Formats: sequence, structure tokens, C-alpha cells
Amino acid sequence: MYENEMERLLELYMSGLYGSPYYAKQVSGKDCFTSYEQFQSIPFSYKEDIRESSIMDRTATKSGDIFGIFSSSGTTGNKTYYIYNKKDKIVHESFVKTYLTEIGIIPSDIGGIMAPIDTGVMAHTMMWEFTTMGASYVNCPEPSPHNMISVLDAVPVTVIATRPNVVSSPIYTPELIGRFRKSSVNKLILGGGFLSSERRKLIEYLWDAKCFNLFGMSEMFGPMAAECQMRDGLHYLDNYLMIELIDPTTGKPVPSGEPGVAVYTTLWDKGFPLLRYWTDDYMLLDHENCKCGSQHPRLRYLGRLGDCHKTDDGRFVFPEQVENILFSNNLCGEYYIDIQPECIIVSAENVPAPYSSLTADSYLVEDGLQELFGANDIKLNLVPAGTFAPNAHGKRFANPKA
Ligand SMILES: [Zn+2]
Repeated sequence: MYENEMERLLELYMSGLYGSPYYAKQVSGKDCFTSYEQFQSIPFSYKEDIRESSIMDRTATKSGDIFGIFSSSGTTGNKTYYIYNKKDKIVHESFVKTYLTEIGIIPSDIGGIMAPIDTGVMAHTMMWEFTTMGASYVNCPEPSPHNMISVLDAVPVTVIATRPNVVSSPIYTPELIGRFRKSSVNKLILGGGFLSSERRKLIEYLWDAKCFNLFGMSEMFGPMAAECQMRDGLHYLDNYLMIELIDPTTGKPVPSGEPGVAVYTTLWDKGFPLLRYWTDDYMLLDHENCKCGSQHPRLRYLGRLGDCHKTDDGRFVFPEQVENILFSNNLCGEYYIDIQPECIIVSAENVPAPYSSLTADSYLVEDGLQELFGANDIKLNLVPAGTFAPNAHGKRFANPKA
């Protein structure tokens, strides 16, 4: 198991990649890479470990080989900075060409990047994606519906890159929906959050365009996995990225085909290499051949362990499942799930889908939620549109101060 990966990691170890102070205490010697069994003796590393170390202590890259220094979005705490080296940029291009060629991004495309531009990885990685494909792009750093329309009126954008909630926001400006639908946009590449099937349906209506989901994280360099034309799981390049699925209770690998917490190890001389990096991402891996013909495995992201509810019978319920129930019942605004000792309160903005004339049936929604949570004490609390601030990246299992 993971024989090729161990061979590659041993090479990287011998080249001095793990000689940085950050890894010196984690990796005891080259024996760690002689088999997958030995590899499991390497302790997991966590976001907290990164926060407590300095960027220069985490890299073996010499200053002349640094490509740039970018940060996480900082939505879950202080921003964390990462060194990307020149090799990272080359590997990034390899990922991007694989993913974006498949979904048909071509040099004549004009990208519309609807994301704040500061030190965060997200907007930068999107700019590099379009550049890599020989396409051009325009930035909209404050992507409110009105600002997005103003960009689209001025520039014939064909592909949007952003988070799912940004391109759902036109639902709050019904008077603009017709203009979004008539725009020149024909594809949306969406990352930085889960994309539920019901939200995808809503976005595809709002934009009259096709959505592709992309999965990434700042620690890596942005895109790690993306949907092909089949849109049935997200392919990842397993020659560059090793994913272990770990049982959060035992800390051991889950049996094949079972979901687990993704633990990432990067397989090139990365600026900040990842070695058994625990992220809280809960997912399934699929090694079956995809109809698109790609040889690369697929991941199916289920949610974050830090934003879910464990039911009495031991199942995890993730926001995506709640979202599908709400949206399919015509509640397409922001929502939160508040787990109280006595009951579960789901607060949802009463925002109807533009393609439906029905109003939400609270009893039907509560029935669906009861079935999902396996509990009877569930209350749906309908609130007016605009009650909650847009939830870009934060928790859904929370007690919002409305
Ligand atoms: Zn495929």
C-alpha cells in the first residue's frame, strides 16, 4: 500500500526537504519512509502547529527560490502565511492544466474573479489559473450583486471563479436576476466551501451557466481537486498528493470505501511541505474508473468535523445535508443550526427560489430534518431575508446573533 508514495517520500527526505526545524521534531529518520506501516509512526500535524511556528522554520526553500508569500483567508482566526517556492508554481500549473482543460477553459475565455484581493491565496490562485490557461481575467474584489453586474455590463466575462455563496447572492436582488441570466457567463468554477446539489441547481438557474466544483486549501496552494465533465466526485493528482483517510476515534486508517478524515502529504519539494497534515475534512475516496477516462482517483467531500453534529446513533450530519433539505423546500437564504440541550433549532431566511411560486411548508421541512437528524425535537425558525450576514466560510452549526 502506498509503495510509490513511500519511495518518493524517501527521496524527498534524503534531499533534505524535512530538515527544517518544523519537521526535525516530527520525522525521526529515513526509516519513517520504508513502508506505510512505518510512515504511520509520524505524528499528525495540525493547523495549530503551523500557527505556533514561524514561516521560515517551516521551509527548506532558499530565499532565492521563493515565488511568493500568501496567507489563509483568516476567517477562523489570525491569517497564517505560507511560502510558495518556484517549484510549487510549476506543480500548480500542472494541476490547473489538468482540471481546466477538461472543463473546456480556453485562451479566448475572460475570467471574472469575484473575490477580495489582499494577501489571501484564493484570488491569487484564481488569477494564476486563468493565466496558466492563456485566458484573461478581470477582478471584482467586493462582489456584491450590484458590483458583479457592473463588471459584467462592462466586460464580456465568460467564466466566473469564486465561492458558492457569492454567486448565490443574486437571490437577494430579484430585480437583477434577469441580467445575470443574460450575461455572457457560461461557466462557474466554485471553490472555498462545499457545493450542495440544491445550491448548484439554484446557481445554475441564477446564471444560466454550468457549475464545476473545485476543492482546495491555502496550505497546499489552492486547487487540489476538481470536477470533470461528469461532475461525479472531484479528481485529484495522486502523483503529487497522498490522501490518507483516518478514523477520528482510533487515529488509524479506515477500511477501503469508508469515509474518514483526510490527512494530506505532498509529494514534491514544496515550499511548505505537508506531512500527515490533519485538516478536519471528512470525505470518501473513489478509485473506480471515471466515465471521463481520467486515471486519477476522485474524492467526495462531505464536510468538516468541526462543523457537524454527531447523532445519538453515531452518524455525522453535515451542513450540506441540511442545506439540501432547506433549498429543496424553497428556503434558499442563509441558515444556521443551533444544537440546544433540549432541541435542535434550524433558523432559515425565508428566501424563495426564483423558479418556484410555492411558499415553504414548515411541516414538510421539519419532517425532512427530523429524518436527517433521527430526532423529533426539531424546530424550524423562519426569519426574513437579510437577517444573517452572508456566511462565506464560517460554521453553520452555530448560534447566530440575529
Ligand atoms: Zn472524471
